[in-house]
Amino acid sequence: MASVELVRLQAEKFRLWKQLRNYGEFMRGSMVTLKRPCTYRGCRKCAEGTKHPTTYYSISRKNKTELIYLPKRIQARVKRLIENYHRMNSLTDRISELTLGIVKLQIKERGKK
Ligand SMILES: [Zn+2]
Repeated sequence: MASVELVRLQAEKFRLWKQLRNYGEFMRGSMVTLKRPCTYRGCRKCAEGTKHPTTYYSISRKNKTELIYLPKRIQARVKRLIENYHRMNSLTDRISELTLGIVKLQIKERGKK
């Protein structure tokens, strides 16, 4: 027989699982701004040390990080994709914890027999 706690955990798990479907596209990684020097001789910004802040998308895999230059027109889109990834990741973490709670209850129920 399902306990009240089990029903509560399953309902919460289903509620979060439905939220996952709200996210379409997502992308793991981050956005970084690096100050790069240019090749123009006599550049005032480079001489002052402020250089040229440039935005990149950064993705780390095992032992290699890939940097991809992001033109301004695509930065907002990439930012949204990364935010979606973090929201989905946080949701799947919570769903995983709820599932663990359910498994723990099911272990306890078995123990009674
Ligand atoms: Zn420069």
